[in-house]
Amino acid sequence: MKAYNPEMHTAEHVLNQTMVQMFACNRSFSNHLERKKSKCDYRFQRSLTKTEELAIEKQVNETLALHLNVTEEILERKEASRLFDLEKLPDASGEQVRIVRVGDYDACPCIGEHVKNTSEVGQFLLGSTSFGDGVLRIRFKLKRPL
Ligand SMILES: [Zn+2]
Repeated sequence: MKAYNPEMHTAEHVLNQTMVQMFACNRSFSNHLERKKSKCDYRFQRSLTKTEELAIEKQVNETLALHLNVTEEILERKEASRLFDLEKLPDASGEQVRIVRVGDYDACPCIGEHVKNTSEVGQFLLGSTSFGDGVLRIRFKLKRPL
């Protein structure tokens, strides 16, 4: 079992929604979240420009700064499957599915651990990005609140 980092993981939700909104791509299909730094991989067509990288960082930070509550809702699998892509959830997750919401900004099925409010995440620092073989990798860190 990997050690969960609720701050990094909540930041990933916000980053994913930001990517969906800005580029109409899918949420990351793979990610490696660690305490100090994390990376998310997206199916993508090209590399990002510096301007786009800055725009992503700005939107993630503006969203975190809204101090959104992170809430959970349990849905029956049938209902959840109409609203969300459940493919990434483990099959064993049962007849009920947990939907995690970050304010009104993001909602997705998830079994991970999250902070209670985006004010706990800290500042989102987008590191380098790279592109190859249809995969865009975004690396990021968090600067914790003092
Ligand atoms: Zn999650």
